[in-house]
Amino acid sequence: MTDPQHGPRTIELDLGPGVRAVFTTVHGGVSSPPWASLNLGMACGDDQGAVVENRRRVGAAVGAPVAFATQVHGADVVDVAGADAVRELPGTVGEADGLVTSATDVALGVLVADCVPVLLADPEARVVAVAHAGRRGVESEVVLRTLDAMVARGADPARVRAAVGPCACGDCYEVPEDMRADVAARVPATWSTTSWGTPALDLAAGVEQQLDRAGVASVTRVARCTIEDDDLFSYRRAGRTGDPTTGRFAGVVRITVPGR
Ligand SMILES: [Zn+2]
Repeated sequence: MTDPQHGPRTIELDLGPGVRAVFTTVHGGVSSPPWASLNLGMACGDDQGAVVENRRRVGAAVGAPVAFATQVHGADVVDVAGADAVRELPGTVGEADGLVTSATDVALGVLVADCVPVLLADPEARVVAVAHAGRRGVESEVVLRTLDAMVARGADPARVRAAVGPCACGDCYEVPEDMRADVAARVPATWSTTSWGTPALDLAAGVEQQLDRAGVASVTRVARCTIEDDDLFSYRRAGRTGDPTTGRFAGVVRITVPGR
């Protein structure tokens, strides 16, 4: 954990040698409520200058500027050539829900506040990726399209290590009955019931099932629920107060050692 007085407080993951992988929390930024304090989302009403500073802090913490996409709940993947992409396209490297790179001078980021943030790395091929898997992303298999983009860069699923980050959990993520039926028909592991007995989706379990079936070597799940955990941003939890305006935290991954 980084001292919140001096930088972002993060959850560190081990995705193999030469790979840095973290999930940010709400702590360690400069934004004011309801975005306090480490909001990394440009499109949720926060002061743009504050978001730029927050992103700079996360980049400093991981050792490279972070590329973020404009996420549209699709399955497109953008190949990020390097840090120039962040300099040339400040704020966003394009409309996508997956990012992939082999560059060591840039980090990749995925923004969430209940959706599932996924980090992927093949430490041997030195290829990393992020994916944004909400309900629609699980249905459109964005995680598998992102894995395809890694394979195109030389990755092998049998070496890929994945981290499934904090999101709305299957005990909390209530949805209409027909929606649960539709999603679970495609991805059975998503079928869930809330702790109060109503239809729900376990999107993280769905992502895990998709990765397992694709032959991904290992999947680490961060068992923290955004709706239940005040250290994370949650659109659903914010909405319970009457105004869903809130920030976005991020999953961030980068390669720290050049390829062989
Ligand atoms: Zn929960």
